[in-house]
Amino acid sequence: MSAANPSIKLCHLYPDHMNIYADRGNIAVFRRRLEWRGLSLEVAEVGLGDPIPADCHLYYLGGGQDRDQMLVAEDLAQKADSLLDAAGDGAVVLGVCGGYQLLGHSYMAVDGRPMPGIGLLDVETTAGASRLIGDVVLEVTLNGLTRTVVGYENHAGRTHLGGGCTPLGRLRRGHGNNGDDRCEGAVAGRRVGTYLHGPLLPKNPWLADILLGWALDHAGHTSELKPLEDDLEKSAHAVAATRAGKRR
Ligand code: GLN
Repeated sequence: MSAANPSIKLCHLYPDHMNIYADRGNIAVFRRRLEWRGLSLEVAEVGLGDPIPADCHLYYLGGGQDRDQMLVAEDLAQKADSLLDAAGDGAVVLGVCGGYQLLGHSYMAVDGRPMPGIGLLDVETTAGASRLIGDVVLEVTLNGLTRTVVGYENHAGRTHLGGGCTPLGRLRRGHGNNGDDRCEGAVAGRRVGTYLHGPLLPKNPWLADILLGWALDHAGHTSELKPLEDDLEKSAHAVAATRAGKRR
């Protein structure tokens, strides 16, 4: 497929400010998993002051420290309409950690300053006095299939879900959304938020393919993805799950 006609257009929101946990690794996974199947990815990077394109099939917002997150929150709140419209039309949106918080209604930072969210996910976040840090294992059900997802979390935010979304998964290990209710992340249709980074997708190829399948469907392609070997990815997944089991 020519670069002029990519299979999926991805909008990477604020790659310079919201990239503290190698979020570009998640974009690399999307690209390679498409290319291994003869498909292609075009990435539009959107920074402070740039308009958000409305015609992307997948939008990605990564994690950031409170200082950067504040800059981004104010910029994003002013120009989120095209993102909200695209999500309403069925585009996929993935927010990780600070990005997850900004997809919600608002985030109250450690210093007590409120940051606006865009209300794409029905969640609310307030920073706690301690950070929730460590390896995470959760059980996720998407497209009727249940799988284990692994990752790492490091956040002050405590996130609580409203009735407009459901948890991404049930925790086996880790703190998750708030350290209390044993839930992690949030899902509403094709909008997904999670605290897992490190990055998330290299060791969770199943989740990467679910998101790619949704984005391909939105782009008008078949969402059936040819299985890949994934030996290395499965090993990375197993190592992370074992490490999480040992630490707690
Ligand atoms: N600043 C947010 C928090 O501490 C998000 C951190 C992150 O993205 N890792 O909760």
